[in-house]
Amino acid sequence: MGGAPALGAPLSPERAAAFRTYYELLEEANSRFNLTAISGEEDCARLHFLDSLALCGIADLGGRSLLDVGTGAGFPGLPVALCVPDCRVTLVDATEKKVEFLRQVSERLGLDTHCVHGRAEELGQDPAYRESYDICTSRAVARLNVLCELCLPMVRPGGLFIALKAKDSDAEIDEARSAAKKLGGGEIQVREYPIPGTEIVRRAVIIKKTGLTAAKYPRRYATIKKSPL
Ligand code: SAH
Repeated sequence: MGGAPALGAPLSPERAAAFRTYYELLEEANSRFNLTAISGEEDCARLHFLDSLALCGIADLGGRSLLDVGTGAGFPGLPVALCVPDCRVTLVDATEKKVEFLRQVSERLGLDTHCVHGRAEELGQDPAYRESYDICTSRAVARLNVLCELCLPMVRPGGLFIALKAKDSDAEIDEARSAAKKLGGGEIQVREYPIPGTEIVRRAVIIKKTGLTAAKYPRRYATIKKSPL
């Protein structure tokens, strides 16, 4: 985790120990069920932890509410919760086993992360979640046009939707411009960041919510997939 300071997220010895515990719990759970394809300490630190912590250098997260959609084993939301204690993090995933794992990790690490088992397109129609978050994040869940419909409805006007994507995402971004607009989003901005200790450059795709989302969005998942905006 030596690369964390380069990302604007200095790690105290206590936090480094917390990441080690997280890693151990991840490996243990991965041996029981398929939680994440990435394994091994080095890859986990770089491709999961440091990639997630890149968010700290992309947006001001302190004092904000953050919803991580399709968080899986907790990425990027859980490393953020560890490093930015006053960021109120909610982790959402459609798979119950994964959410159970996230609850265990949060408890072991003393985090008050809110772990929710649910589908983004349903939560987006629930007043408790709709237009409620300062920041909504998502990594490796869907193509950006689909992701816009899953995430933007839950961002409050003035807030941000940030998708972590691969560097070669130009076509995906172009394809998502009209979706962003229809859902109350503004221009799409791109910030590239290197993962420290690797040759890998990744992208944060940032969409500011400029208006409200029309009540008909998000639609049912089958419809979103079949005819993305
Ligand atoms: N964000 C994590 C996990 C990516 S795998 C990472 O980058 O490592 C995609 C995850 O999204 C899976 O755990 C899946 O259960 C979840 N997912 C897919 N569609 C979803 C939806 N509509 N609502 C909530 N979670 C969803």
